[in-house]
Amino acid sequence: MENRLYSAKYLKSIIESHGFKFSKSLGQNFLIDGNIVKKIVRDAGITKDDYVLEVGPGVGTLTEELALNAKGVVAVEIDKSLLPILDITLKPYKNIEIVHGDILDIDIKSLIEEKMEGGPVKVVANLPYYVTTPIIARFLEEDLNVESLTIMVQKEVAQRMVSLEGSKVYGSLSVFVNFYSNPEILLTVPKSVFMPSPKIDSAVIKLNMKKDLPEVDKEQFFKVVKASFSKRRKTILNALSSYGFNLEKDDFKIALETAGIDPKSRAEELSLEEFVKISKILPPLDI
Ligand code: SAM
Repeated sequence: MENRLYSAKYLKSIIESHGFKFSKSLGQNFLIDGNIVKKIVRDAGITKDDYVLEVGPGVGTLTEELALNAKGVVAVEIDKSLLPILDITLKPYKNIEIVHGDILDIDIKSLIEEKMEGGPVKVVANLPYYVTTPIIARFLEEDLNVESLTIMVQKEVAQRMVSLEGSKVYGSLSVFVNFYSNPEILLTVPKSVFMPSPKIDSAVIKLNMKKDLPEVDKEQFFKVVKASFSKRRKTILNALSSYGFNLEKDDFKIALETAGIDPKSRAEELSLEEFVKISKILPPLDI
């Protein structure tokens, strides 16, 4: 079957015939490069055994390529005006289901249970940039049967997600993503492969979900991480002790020293494992 949704000419004709207007506020930048579309699906490792959950199918460009390679695709689209277009563009494919809804509100667990045989599921998406982090957070934090996320995000966000201690862009997002997954940047993508073209470059990143998470109380751990990065210029001791927790500065000092961490070091120098150590040594934190 001819795969043509990524042709800019076809995209133009279909959106014009439906009077569709791109919504900036919904992050609508559609892919118009067949090589990139194919590469995303290939690098996501999609096979005929896989169910894929796509966020934001747009006019169905990536969805089509996914359907050609996967067992089944469920795509969640928020924009009602795209539904009649998707009806036409994806008509030939029997293994696609479009769900109208907001990925931030929808019950993803039930979706996986009811429409994807309970998973495991691979998430693939060219994400709307205005909600990248909350969407990723949902998939990482909720106990979902998700194996990996292969997602297009802003290049700068991708770099933050893969960075390790010592890097200039290392921060709480890096620790958060690395807590739940092993991230890798698959490719960087120029602005020219989208319509309309965004202002910034993008990257495709794959988050391979960890089967075994670090053994630590998650709530305590993320409190420590958040407080540690809240004032990047301060030492770890000052950042933690000025955050307003129910502990004295000396308590933090002793805990850091017990963990083998110099109280004068800064959050961006500490590894995920070191944050785990501190969180375990400190008594339960409260504000
Ligand atoms: N997948 C298409 C492509 O690659 O050409 C479109 C990608 S476009 C960057 C993002 C898509 O996500 C748009 O179709 C937009 O309407 C949709 N979207 C935006 N916010 C959403 C949300 N909260 N839930 C579901 N879809 C959303």
